[in-house]
Amino acid sequence: MRTFPKLNQAMFRKRYALRTLHLISIWSGNMKAGMIGLGAMGAGMARNLASADYLTAVYNRTASTAQSLAEGLGVTAYATPQALAAEVDVVLICVSADQDVLDVVNAVAATVKSGSIVVDMSTVSSETARKAAEILAEKQAAFLDAPVSGGVEGANKGTLAMMIGGDADTLEKVRPVLTAMASSITHMGPTGAGQNTKAVNQIMAAGINQAVTEALAFGQAHGLPMEKVIEVISGGAAGNWFLEHRGPTMTRGAFAPGFKLALHHKDLKICQAMAGQIGASTTLVDKTLADYQQLMAAGFGDEDISALYRLKNKV
Ligand code: NAP
Repeated sequence: MRTFPKLNQAMFRKRYALRTLHLISIWSGNMKAGMIGLGAMGAGMARNLASADYLTAVYNRTASTAQSLAEGLGVTAYATPQALAAEVDVVLICVSADQDVLDVVNAVAATVKSGSIVVDMSTVSSETARKAAEILAEKQAAFLDAPVSGGVEGANKGTLAMMIGGDADTLEKVRPVLTAMASSITHMGPTGAGQNTKAVNQIMAAGINQAVTEALAFGQAHGLPMEKVIEVISGGAAGNWFLEHRGPTMTRGAFAPGFKLALHHKDLKICQAMAGQIGASTTLVDKTLADYQQLMAAGFGDEDISALYRLKNKV
């Protein structure tokens, strides 16, 4: 049996006791959560975490955003991700793109407590998720990739759908916290599986956008009564959420977001790169990226993705 010198045994016991206390505080539901990234999605997530009594800390790159939200919620705004990570059990991240997530994770890793859980809800590549998990594993902190769907409305209402990659036991520990933000939380597999699933969602959304905009523009060009067209088709096999919710607005030439076209463009670039690594088909992704590029160049990047209708409706 392995023996320890006396001093080391005492140090070992102290360290073990501290770690156990930390884990008990996590498992018993007294988890302290910190939110990094308070943009369109993160602000709503933070409010819901505060309502459920988990949020104690926030950080935002533009400090004034964090300060005003922290004042309203009665939590602490930290000046750096490092300062926040040192104070909480669960670090939640929702920032823009791959490099932003890695920058934040590297900063968090500098001070994160051993046994903590870091959950990234940004939409990035599965490769970024695996890099983040590796960085944090060196500090004995767990990582889950947890991209979401449901948009700003879902973030505000706490009804997001979350697709999770990473260790299943870690998810169960942190599930109560995530439940404050999401109405559906599904474990998809190992690290990266959440982001892979989100990519499936984004590719499908591109196809649905292409199908609905092209079909409705065809109907409009034939002079059909579009409200009736949308109603009758919504009740049949081709019916879908996008047709029902965006069909009426796009055929009236209204494209308020919703889901911003420029964000979907960013996500499809990730999908294109991920597909390239495994040799998967990218026909839909390539076409939609080219169309979005054209719309963004014309100044429509901040509109809803249904602005694709602008390219289809030539009459
Ligand atoms: P957003 O409104 O543009 O907010 C982005 C946030 O990230 C801001 O708080 C920004 O800080 C912060 N940030 C960006 N780069 C950073 C960096 N290097 N270091 C620290 N903070 C940084 O975007 P969002 O709509 O909330 O989207 C956030 C993520 O959720 C994205 O990955 C997006 O694809 C995903 N998502 C969005 C939606 C949606 O409908 N909007 C739906 C599902 C998923 P500043 O305030 O300083 O700029």
